[in-house]
Amino acid sequence: MLLDYQSILDTIHREVQPLLREGKVADYIPELSKVSPGRFGMAVYCLDGRTFSAGDADVKFSLQSITKLFALALAFSREGDVIWTRVGREPSGNPFNSLVQLEYERGIPRNPFINAGALVITDILATRFVQAEIAVLQFVRMLADEPAIDFDRIVAQSEQDTAHRNSAIAYFMKDFGNLHNPVASVIGSYCRQCSITMTCAELAKAGSFLAQHGTIPWSGMEILDASSAKRLNALMLTCGTYDAAGDFAYRVGLPAKSGVGGGILALMPGDASIAVWSPGLDATGNSLAGTYALERFTTLTARSIF
Ligand code: GLU
Repeated sequence: MLLDYQSILDTIHREVQPLLREGKVADYIPELSKVSPGRFGMAVYCLDGRTFSAGDADVKFSLQSITKLFALALAFSREGDVIWTRVGREPSGNPFNSLVQLEYERGIPRNPFINAGALVITDILATRFVQAEIAVLQFVRMLADEPAIDFDRIVAQSEQDTAHRNSAIAYFMKDFGNLHNPVASVIGSYCRQCSITMTCAELAKAGSFLAQHGTIPWSGMEILDASSAKRLNALMLTCGTYDAAGDFAYRVGLPAKSGVGGGILALMPGDASIAVWSPGLDATGNSLAGTYALERFTTLTARSIF
């Protein structure tokens, strides 16, 4: 049944207004703290080609950890299951930038969505491609059919200047033999990758292949086979929203990946992909208004994976 997502998005846009000043904009990357917490955008890309949007859906924002999903999809599509010898598939139960588990798990990160795991994926891409972050950028440009998508070099530099913890994680993994390229170049690639900016409308389109079982809906190009796409969806559900994936699944009921820029990409397999952005974060690091918006979306549409 075709639903009128536009009236649902308009309702949600109205409902989130009181929440927009409640979250806290990330400030550990200094450049990110300059974004106004009052922004809110949402876009739905239906697999039949219909699109819907509300609010600031055409304003670019910093993707940050959402790029980890695209980097993982690229690495998985090229390298296959061998990537799981270097990174796990379990929720970490720890903050996304934690070091502690790495010591007793001998440099193998719990999953590809915590920073340690994402750095391993960057390292895998750096071995395969001339420049890992360029490979990810070209990949998302192709997925969104938007050649103007780019890095934000000021955000990238801001993160690189303060990347002490990520560097520590990378050195730690190198000591365990789980980082093959030089730490400085992996960190540089990772910071540039995280700085990619997109609009909600672009992000929903770029993620739609994961809702369409691995195949880009508008071009028919297969990025991942259906089984691999299922596996990435499962990882998003269990590990994609920081240390709150259980609560996010309880509230929203969709696989999703969030980022400290305040964006969330959520998937309704076989139906649509949804991107939402609001930079104010809750205590777990997920967009406060964004999570609420997705919770309302699956409630009002009565659609989720459950
Ligand atoms: N570039 C950010 C970092 O490594 C990404 C964090 C995030 O969005 O979760 O700290």
